[in-house]
Amino acid sequence: MSVIAANLQAVLNDIAAAAQQAGRDPSGVTLLAVSKTVAPAIVRAAFQAGQAAFGENYVQEGLDKIAALADLRDRITWHFIGPLQSNKTRPVAEHFDWVHAIDRLKIAERLSAQRPAGMAPLQVCIQVNISDEASKSGVAPAEVLPLAQAIAALPNLRLRGLMAIPAPADDPDAQRRPFAALRGLLDQLRQSGLHVDTLSMGMSADMGAAIAEGATLVRIGTAIFGARA
Ligand SMILES: *Cc1c(COP(=O)(O)O)cnc(C)c1O
Repeated sequence: MSVIAANLQAVLNDIAAAAQQAGRDPSGVTLLAVSKTVAPAIVRAAFQAGQAAFGENYVQEGLDKIAALADLRDRITWHFIGPLQSNKTRPVAEHFDWVHAIDRLKIAERLSAQRPAGMAPLQVCIQVNISDEASKSGVAPAEVLPLAQAIAALPNLRLRGLMAIPAPADDPDAQRRPFAALRGLLDQLRQSGLHVDTLSMGMSADMGAAIAEGATLVRIGTAIFGARA
């Protein structure tokens, strides 16, 4: 078995163990392989090992990789998980399946307007600044509901849920707190009548805590592909 295939299997085993410990069905947690800085040939190896969802952070790198793997386009789901500037929305709307880090209505409006007719709606999540830290990305918790309602009304997007990158914390209880808060916000959206189903939370270092708090999609890079340069 290749190193990538072995790493993937180990991560899937960890996901299953964390889900079982939380009394959850492991099939309720999707593994997103974060392939930023990873060469297309390695992504292809991961695909051949059974992985079908990949996340990219940088627009040009992501576009290049989607093009290099064009023969697999129908069988890979490409997620854009990085911050998105308004002048770069068009290629993302034209080539990706998901966008995770929407933090203002203007970006969502542009993505909806630029999504080509005939493509499935772009699946999107709102990024929430859940631990109110210096890294300013994401909307404040109080702004989530109005932004979600506005995005849900856009024709070519489908609002799936919320995403967060909490401040790093070492102990499991501290890791769980912001994930629990994100889950509470998703519940609030549901109670307001929005049909949202996705909690995009948890990376290599805090995946177990995220799954314990209800993550439906974990974004894992290092544990699959090794440390980035
Ligand atoms: C890089 C990145 C990840 C993956 O992080 P790892 O620690 O390598 O697992 C997940 N989410 C986002 C938004 C990232 O930028």
